[in-house]
Amino acid sequence: MAIVTRPRILVVGAGFAGVECVRRLERKLGPDEADVTLVAPFSYQLYLPLLPQVASGVLTPQSIALSLRRSSRYRTRIIPGGAIGVDSKAKVCVIRTVTDELIDEPYDILVLTPGSVTRTFDIPGLTDNARGMKTLAEAAYVRDHVIQQLDLADASQDPAERAARLQFVVVGGGYAGTETAACLQRLTHNAVKRYPRLDPGLIKWHLIDIAPRLMPELGEKLGETALGILRRRGIEVSLGVSVAKVSPTEVTFTDGRVVPSHTLIWTAGVAASPLMATLGCETSRGRMVVDAEMKAPGCPDVFALGDAAAVPDLAKGEEGAVCPPTAQHAMRQGKVAADNVIARIRNQPLRPYVHKDLGLVVDLGGKDAVSRPLGVEMKGLPALAVARGYHWMALRTGVAKARVATNWALNAVAGDDFVRTGFQARKPATLKDFEYTDAYLSPEQIRERVERHQLREA
Ligand SMILES: Cc1cc2nc3c(=O)[nH]c(=O)nc-3n(C[C@H](O)[C@H](O)[C@H](O)COP(=O)(O)OP(=O)(O)OC[C@H]3O[C@@H](n4cnc5c(N)ncnc54)[C@H](O)[C@@H]3O)c2cc1C
Repeated sequence: MAIVTRPRILVVGAGFAGVECVRRLERKLGPDEADVTLVAPFSYQLYLPLLPQVASGVLTPQSIALSLRRSSRYRTRIIPGGAIGVDSKAKVCVIRTVTDELIDEPYDILVLTPGSVTRTFDIPGLTDNARGMKTLAEAAYVRDHVIQQLDLADASQDPAERAARLQFVVVGGGYAGTETAACLQRLTHNAVKRYPRLDPGLIKWHLIDIAPRLMPELGEKLGETALGILRRRGIEVSLGVSVAKVSPTEVTFTDGRVVPSHTLIWTAGVAASPLMATLGCETSRGRMVVDAEMKAPGCPDVFALGDAAAVPDLAKGEEGAVCPPTAQHAMRQGKVAADNVIARIRNQPLRPYVHKDLGLVVDLGGKDAVSRPLGVEMKGLPALAVARGYHWMALRTGVAKARVATNWALNAVAGDDFVRTGFQARKPATLKDFEYTDAYLSPEQIRERVERHQLREA
């Protein structure tokens, strides 16, 4: 009697791309058609674009952590852990579980969506002293750290220490860094009213970027508008400048300025997950090279998408254009990738990914925002309404929508209590503590491990 086994689909990463892909597979595939497994370090999908609002206390962390197990229709098997290497010839993914066990997970079709990590450079002191804004923990820690600086400055009798604790540096003039600086500046601006001993004039936020313009994707005019808003609010924006070195109490800029500060928030771009390098397939700037159907040439039955893959941007119509690393693309790629996985199983033709960029929305905190939906330039309240409306609609579950809307309403009416939770009191919580970039195996280590494992099984 012939034993018919179901194809095993393994999805790595539960972010925008991975979750959209899995949900569509669950909806469109019959339970007997394939087994779907998801590898995810956390039990939620993080709605990253609203992370600056968690750091600034407008939203609670739970409101942007969307459960992977909300509904009984979610029948995917979830392995809690991270993939640390793939042997694409043997079709095995090596996973480190959250309890640090290593398991070899075989697959027939692999969908890689591990996203990106914060891009760092070889700057003395950077990974030991800078903080990121890429995970829920980082946002919560940054918030605590900023409030802690106010508390310590308030308690200090030393004017130099006070001044250093009240200077904050954000690196990265893209939308993530700009929103982070703007939202956190509002936090300290509002919080200082609760510290009558502190001189509000001592609080200084710096936003620096090596590029000559803020958020170039907004266009020149709107970029200038955003710059004007930030400068009016007292944020010192320095363009064409980066960081030369960092210590726990000082940040030195490349133009020679030395800023006494205990806070450096690093949001200067992202790099594809190091997982992509473990397959030995072609990569471009770390992102896996794929065709428009999101298949990786040379790696049979491997699909890659989201921030981790260089998916051709067919809507742009330019030779060699690839989709930018945005949630907007990752979500839509997830759906098309699921359809292509199903087509592959059913021996049907695959379809290319095509999506015309809808534009950008930037919430600068309070009533300030700039947006460019479908090429229409907006600022102020209309831009804020578009920004919030867009994010609200994009939240995947009804309960997340309700939580976020309630948080926005509560914050507008009652403001923030600036509570420091103290979780980070004795934990460093810097870049090197949250991005496990040294956890991955080399292609040789993976092959050796899988071969050893297969010999034992034989
Ligand atoms: C502060 C901030 C603001 C942003 N604002 C916007 C915005 O306004 N608009 C917009 O379009 N985009 C925005 N982005 C970018 C957007 O969030 C990303 O482009 C998007 O999240 C990419 O989706 P993804 O599925 O590829 O990766 P992610 O959503 O990052 O998901 C990757 C998932 O894989 C998991 N993972 C990582 N490594 C492994 C592994 N080895 N094994 C298993 N799982 C793994 C991660 O924990 C994560 O859950 C913002 C990003 C940040 C940081």
